[in-house]
Amino acid sequence: MNKKELTRMRFIIKDELLIPSNTAEYSLPITKIPTIPQPPLNPNFAYNPDLQQLLSGKQLLIDDIPFSIADIQTHYQHGYVTYRKGIAYNGKQPICARCGNKDPMWFATFPCARCGETCLYCRQCLMMGRISECTPLIGWNGPVPDTLSPMKPLEWRGMLSEGQRVASRHVVEAILANQEHLIWAVCGAGKTEVLFEGIEEALTAKRRICIATPRTDVVLELTPRLKAAFPNIPVASLYGGSEDRHLYAPLTIATTHQLLRFYQAFDTVILDEVDAFPYTVEKSLQHAVKQARKPTSAMIYLTATPNERWQRECRSGKRAFTTIPARFHRHPLPVPGFVWCGNWQKRLQKNKLPPNVIQWIHHRILANKQALLFFPRIPMMEKALTILRQISPDIEAVHAEDPDRKNKVQKMRAKEIPILLTTTILERGVTFPNIDVAVVGAEDTIFTESALVQIAGRAGRSKDHPEGGVTFFHYGKTDEMIKARRQIVSMNQEGIKKGMINQ
Ligand SMILES: [Zn+2]
Ligand SMILES: [Zn+2]
Repeated sequence: MNKKELTRMRFIIKDELLIPSNTAEYSLPITKIPTIPQPPLNPNFAYNPDLQQLLSGKQLLIDDIPFSIADIQTHYQHGYVTYRKGIAYNGKQPICARCGNKDPMWFATFPCARCGETCLYCRQCLMMGRISECTPLIGWNGPVPDTLSPMKPLEWRGMLSEGQRVASRHVVEAILANQEHLIWAVCGAGKTEVLFEGIEEALTAKRRICIATPRTDVVLELTPRLKAAFPNIPVASLYGGSEDRHLYAPLTIATTHQLLRFYQAFDTVILDEVDAFPYTVEKSLQHAVKQARKPTSAMIYLTATPNERWQRECRSGKRAFTTIPARFHRHPLPVPGFVWCGNWQKRLQKNKLPPNVIQWIHHRILANKQALLFFPRIPMMEKALTILRQISPDIEAVHAEDPDRKNKVQKMRAKEIPILLTTTILERGVTFPNIDVAVVGAEDTIFTESALVQIAGRAGRSKDHPEGGVTFFHYGKTDEMIKARRQIVSMNQEGIKKGMINQ
């Protein structure tokens, strides 16, 4: 156990200072102290630059900080460190200052060794360390660390497509003017390159910038690309268990979870895949993004599939946005075909698949064309796998908890797997150059408009194989299917109109 965990953590107010005290009779857990005084910054104090690096733009727990409480306290008394209450109260309603949780269901109490009382804590952000009524959130109030930045930090020498160029200019404008802007780029448009110019402008203006995304996979994919584009800039890559946790960097790439540790840190936040799980369902992550921004800052959203509300806001002029309606290779997006396949679940129970699905598989195997076949749920997929392995024993299946997932994706890339069955786990992020795509049971509620657009977006990605078939096998068309197809068709029309698609 960490030594600090054994330390008692109660405070008194003395001479307008918050002071740790475990002995004073009138000491209190930090939450119960009415207001926390903030001493003025003493310009003559020799602050510790390591602590400065660690705390700038952060809100950390005492256990996250490899410095003694005495050190931290001295910096506070000279105005360099801030203490905030981990749990604040609005009347009788507790609010977690880190994740924004207000739901009484997500608080619990425990006999706390640190304050010696029955202490209320937040269950919602528990995985980032416990925040309770006696937990101070520790931040920095002094000058920010100096980072040296070359005059021209961007070393990327690629070419932008016409659509990318327009979007890139709008990103630069939004960053410089501290505005919000959405980039709605079709799957395969190349949205990362669209950020480069804006990031360069921000870096040369000494603005701190963060690219955040709900998915660790995306952090791992973006990090080497950004490091290659900006080779002389420190880049911090943050996800659960990453080693850059204490690195102060002008450019940070992080999961939205990791932003829970930041506080008013960034002049620009770029949120990639704003529509992806779990960001869309977890309010705490939305809170984390908001809190990680400086009060005056720019916000860039990236997605191929904005939700319905956002699409409406775009159409009605309430949301600033730029579309990239065409792929980098200037070919149109494959439009999904709808094929009725009857009660496929009932068939599966009898260990059969609909004949048109079987035929679809046969055609791909004969033509030596790889394919992804999506299923709404794992048990159905496993059943289908047994059936399809009679056609080819090399057919495989993956899902989120599959320990062999990475390996199977690798084998698919190496063309060792002819057909890969999958749940929605592969709906985004993966690129195989020359594949067809089908969904079995496209009517299932798990296949939202955005999921279906993403799935269709897996086909025809490479310039050598820009065509790919997309088939939605269904037992009754849904609105989501129709909306997905409409979105794809309308992007293609826009791309043609703007001269971004070859005809
Ligand atoms: Zn919380
Ligand atoms: Zn406590």
